[in-house]
Amino acid sequence: MLNRQSLIQSFTQSLKEMLSVHADFKDWLEEVGVELTDVQFDKFTTYLQLLKSKNEVLNLTRITDMREAWIKHILDSLMAAPFFQKPGMKVIDIGTGGGMPGIPLAILFPSAEFLLVDATEKKVNAVEGFARELNLKNVICLAARIEKLGQLEHHREQYDLATARALAPLRVLAELGLPLVHPYGNVVAFKGPEYINELIQAKSALETLRAEPARVFHYTLPEDMGQRTIIRLTKKEPTNPKYPRRDGIPSKKPL
Ligand code: SAH
Repeated sequence: MLNRQSLIQSFTQSLKEMLSVHADFKDWLEEVGVELTDVQFDKFTTYLQLLKSKNEVLNLTRITDMREAWIKHILDSLMAAPFFQKPGMKVIDIGTGGGMPGIPLAILFPSAEFLLVDATEKKVNAVEGFARELNLKNVICLAARIEKLGQLEHHREQYDLATARALAPLRVLAELGLPLVHPYGNVVAFKGPEYINELIQAKSALETLRAEPARVFHYTLPEDMGQRTIIRLTKKEPTNPKYPRRDGIPSKKPL
């Protein structure tokens, strides 16, 4: 397992160089055991450029500064790297929006298979375009409600990992994500520093959905770009077929 804190420290040290010199960003990742090719580095850059230009017609991100985007989008997304513990993992990014964290992770882990899902078709079309331009063979995009996918045999309990950033409060996200992963699979939620209330509110949902108590990982983004947490939910047992409930109910009547 990669060490998240050394990931951050190395990143901070090489941030300045990283923004102008490709080799340093590669060194940073190699230090923590991830080898990055020039092609992969260029893909991160291209992705941010694509996101920026598409953002002029479609609201995908409020971040326009490239430096901030590198940290808050690329680096932040890559913080899920430690959850990739074996090759060929099946991953679903729920509520992917403009492709985060799915696209950066798909660039980093070409051997993992990604399904990027969002309810908004325009966003999914944009992300599909990004994946094509980036030549990501390991990415499939789908416009769908997560509630629907969770009840389809083809998707239910089929994933090793579900990722979600800025999707919903934890108790809602748990009902959307846990049915999609197989027993002992993980749901990884990206959160800010105000996660405590969400954790408390999610207690009964996690019991109902047969998840282990949540684990929280903290990290600080460099350049004063804020505190973040990753909350990991691990599924203990198959999910009751009642869940997820139909479209919109998980957020209207949270467990
Ligand atoms: N993960 C991205 C986008 C966050 S915005 C990022 O971090 O930048 C949340 C996204 O989730 C929106 O694009 C919205 O369309 C999608 N979404 C919310 N509820 C959903 C649901 N039930 N099914 C599918 N997509 C959903």
